[in-house]
Amino acid sequence: MCLEKTNETLYLLGMNNSSKVKEIRTIAIANRGEVAVRIIKACEELGIDTVLLHSEADVSSRAFRMATKTICIGPAPTNQSYLNIQANIQGAVAAGADAVHPGFGFLSENADFALACKDAGLIFIGPSPESIRLLGDKISCKALAQKAGIPLVPGYQGDDQSVERLIKEVELIGLPVIIKAAAGGGGRGMKLIRDLSEARQLIESAKRESLSAFGSEKVFLEKYLDRAKHIEFQIFGDCAGQVQHLFDRECSVQRRHQKIIEEATSPSLTDDLRRQMGSAAVSIAQMAQYQGAGTVEFLLQDGKFYLLEVNTRLQVEHPVTEEVMGVDLVKMQILTAMGKFAFSSEDIRIPRGHSIECRLYAEDPYQGGVPSTGKLGTIAWPEGPRRRFEYGFESGDIITSHYDPMIAKVIVWDESRPRAIDKMIRVLQDSVVFGVHTNIPYLVKILSHPDFVTGVMTTRFIETHFSEGIKSSHNEEDRIQFSRQVYKQTFSQKNQTSEVASPWLSHWRNI
Ligand code: ADP
Repeated sequence: MCLEKTNETLYLLGMNNSSKVKEIRTIAIANRGEVAVRIIKACEELGIDTVLLHSEADVSSRAFRMATKTICIGPAPTNQSYLNIQANIQGAVAAGADAVHPGFGFLSENADFALACKDAGLIFIGPSPESIRLLGDKISCKALAQKAGIPLVPGYQGDDQSVERLIKEVELIGLPVIIKAAAGGGGRGMKLIRDLSEARQLIESAKRESLSAFGSEKVFLEKYLDRAKHIEFQIFGDCAGQVQHLFDRECSVQRRHQKIIEEATSPSLTDDLRRQMGSAAVSIAQMAQYQGAGTVEFLLQDGKFYLLEVNTRLQVEHPVTEEVMGVDLVKMQILTAMGKFAFSSEDIRIPRGHSIECRLYAEDPYQGGVPSTGKLGTIAWPEGPRRRFEYGFESGDIITSHYDPMIAKVIVWDESRPRAIDKMIRVLQDSVVFGVHTNIPYLVKILSHPDFVTGVMTTRFIETHFSEGIKSSHNEEDRIQFSRQVYKQTFSQKNQTSEVASPWLSHWRNI
């Protein structure tokens, strides 16, 4: 572990940056689910009121019940509510908000939204529209990285977008090559060329899909690294323009390029690599005059690292960094937006112990992960020291098909990685979610796999070991374990006994 002084680290909440302090009394939340709850909790601690800008489909949610005020901004389809810039701005203004927190996903990396907030007199809690544009566009981000001398995956990002030229570039780069939508994100819009004879058809279909999903048919090419790890650095730019990193996370456990399990810090970095990658992350953020929380993502293969992209927002997996660093990134974002310092240079802050996050999805792990919708029955989280449950839905709420099927994030911290893995398995096994299928059994299998336990997994881990999902195992031992679990978690809670008169059917859907 790198113990280098980062000279940037005492967490002095509330110190002001001279005359630039802006008052924030009410924050509008342009998001939903667990991240909306996360923001509400940070606001509560800071004595700030909240306004939840929600769709018609989200009146049955924890954030709806917790927010100081709620304003419906449109119907369930995201393009009519959560992705509608004007609806969000009008809602925030009507509610008398001073600022907007965009969470992650939806409009969080949309420079036009950040600008629209500014134009409406609202503080956007995030970097400036200029920083978002520069870093959020994958191609201009790569150009900036090149200037900063940060290694990039070999590829082509040129303006000549003719299919002929792209095929030539595929040949020059050498197979396998990945095609990416320039305006893409969230693991979508990527296609892998393994055979030159498929190049034309894959390029054409990538362009078509990119146009319909992201409004632009511009693509770029990268050499596909097939033994890579996904490592990322949390960066933070304070209100006076100083940028620093809060160390790294590893997110190599991915399904279809989307993260499922994340941890801090990475088990794969040497001190030297950590230092080099951390300083590359800080340098690109500094060049973009970055303010607030962001993430610089890299691929690491054969001891070499390559910049992948920069996410100009809070990341889903931010809690693992919070756990090992002892910080509250959402509070830091808000304080920074107010013109207050979240850091000072008087103390050393280094990561301590190990933290893991699992994304809990409403899906059927025995049917290839098909989404599972419906009304949630009894839910019981096995609370305990250094166990954290970030959830947006409770018993009686409905998981709809309109949005991402993530129900919760489970985060644990322990002194070492092996202990954190054991703790996570135990916590997941003791978690009770009735009413929908969940991926708990899938997560437990992944956490127990030797490649995960030893930390050697690459981004192809799931594809290699779990391509067919997992099989149902109704053996006696499982049955006994789950009986004990249901007993412990539900029958011991007096106020929930009525809900579990006959939980077996719904609960067995979990295993
Ligand atoms: P998005 O913005 O859609 O999330 P990214 O560029 O961040 O896309 O990549 C997401 C994931 O896709 C990475 O974490 C990695 O697993 C895989 N990936 C992306 N580019 C490459 C590449 N050149 N080689 C190998 N895997 C890649």
